[in-house]
Amino acid sequence: MLERYGTAKRLGLGLGALVLLLVAASAAAIVASARIHRSLAETVRREEGVRLSLELASAVRDQYAHQAHTIIIGDESHLRFYAEAHANVLGLTARLRRIAGGEEEQRLVDGIEAESGALDRIFRQSIVPAVLRGDRTTVQEEHGRAQVVVTRIQDLTRELGARFQARIEVARDEAARIERHTLWVLVALLLAAPLIALGVSLAIARSIATPVAQLTAGAARIAAGDLEARIEVTGAPELVALAQRWNAMTAALRNHQEQLVRSEKLAGIGRLAAGVAHEIDNPLGVILGYAKLLRKRAEGPLAEDLLVIEEEALRAKEIVDGLLDLSRPIPAPNREPVDLRGVAEDVIARLREARLLEAVAVEVQGTARVLGHPGKLRQVLVNLVRNAAEAAGPGGAVEVRIEERGGAVEVAVDDSGPGIPPAARAKLFEPFFTTKPQGTGLGLSVSRAIARAHGGELSAGEAPGGGARFALTLPASPVDRARGDRASGEAA
Ligand code: ADP
Repeated sequence: MLERYGTAKRLGLGLGALVLLLVAASAAAIVASARIHRSLAETVRREEGVRLSLELASAVRDQYAHQAHTIIIGDESHLRFYAEAHANVLGLTARLRRIAGGEEEQRLVDGIEAESGALDRIFRQSIVPAVLRGDRTTVQEEHGRAQVVVTRIQDLTRELGARFQARIEVARDEAARIERHTLWVLVALLLAAPLIALGVSLAIARSIATPVAQLTAGAARIAAGDLEARIEVTGAPELVALAQRWNAMTAALRNHQEQLVRSEKLAGIGRLAAGVAHEIDNPLGVILGYAKLLRKRAEGPLAEDLLVIEEEALRAKEIVDGLLDLSRPIPAPNREPVDLRGVAEDVIARLREARLLEAVAVEVQGTARVLGHPGKLRQVLVNLVRNAAEAAGPGGAVEVRIEERGGAVEVAVDDSGPGIPPAARAKLFEPFFTTKPQGTGLGLSVSRAIARAHGGELSAGEAPGGGARFALTLPASPVDRARGDRASGEAA
């Protein structure tokens, strides 16, 4: 899994880092612009505050001037203008309260409000009645008090204006600082983006280009015929896995090539052996014939020598016949119904006659018919029963059990011998493998070739009693199978 997505993961990580960088840059820009916007709004508000403070100072002066006019005129005719000026002062104070932020600024607005209330009270409660009474002394005293209050209001508005101005400076500095800071962050992020892109591209290129070059070099060596070449790749996990598959493929190719060479050699040796066997078969027959003939006429030591010649010639003929059996395929048209029980009984009788089953109890169980070559199947049974009897030895037992099941016929030859030694198991069916001093090692290989030529198999295993079991399986003859099916149908 990991190896399949290695490069994809790297690409994803690289692009993800770039996207993250761009997101961080955008976020920094958005936050900065919001903060600068807040600072500018604050500046605009405070500038409005400065303007209102100046306006208030002039409105208070106006209010005071209307008081002075009333004193000069000496009647109530100017009171209407005074009221307008006072209302203007109150309106400006209310607007300043909305702009003022923080305890100190609110305190200054409170002061202005209180002083302007005091100024109004002095005028309405003391100056106006004194003017109407014509009390000059009180008018002068109260006018002096009013002047002091106006000066205090002027001082308070000036202080408020100065505070607003200071706040404007702070907000401007803050905006400039944010601007500078954001600029640096953006420059750093935008410089990092191409660097990261370059790094990611280089890493991916290296993790692909290097292993591709290693793969190409390895493939070229293999193409030139060097099947021992191993491709060692480092980098992208997919390409490392590909190199491992290549190595496995080359190893399999090497194996197949070796097997091909071996089987080609074996086939050549087999053809040679079959040719030699064919050529010496007839001379051997002649030698055997003459040896037999001469032995009948001879007597004494000469007859014994001729017997040795006859026996050895017979052994040589057995080998030659085995080789010819291995090399000759069984012709299909020669197949005919074969009664396996009849063949088995006949084989046992012949082997007894030839004194090859001395003191061995041989039993046949079951029956079945197959389509095949009677002579070849007989040869298989001769080999199996003879081997079984030799393994069981005098006093031993051999059982031939013939059974038909599931569209196949099995002929199992069990013996009471020592069984097959584990070391011999793998080589049992190889031509010329024998553990017997007089053996040819061709019986089982010829028998398996015959079984396979019949569409069956010959296998070795263990008999329930501990001895060996050789099982010949053959396809059941179609006629018998149809009959068997009908019989089982009727029984049901
Ligand atoms: P041969 O009988 O000439 O040796 P085969 O091909 O018939 O040649 O047998 C090969 C070998 O298989 C024998 O030499 C023997 O070691 C082993 N073998 C065959 N049949 C049996 C058996 N029934 N029990 C134990 N070993 C057996």
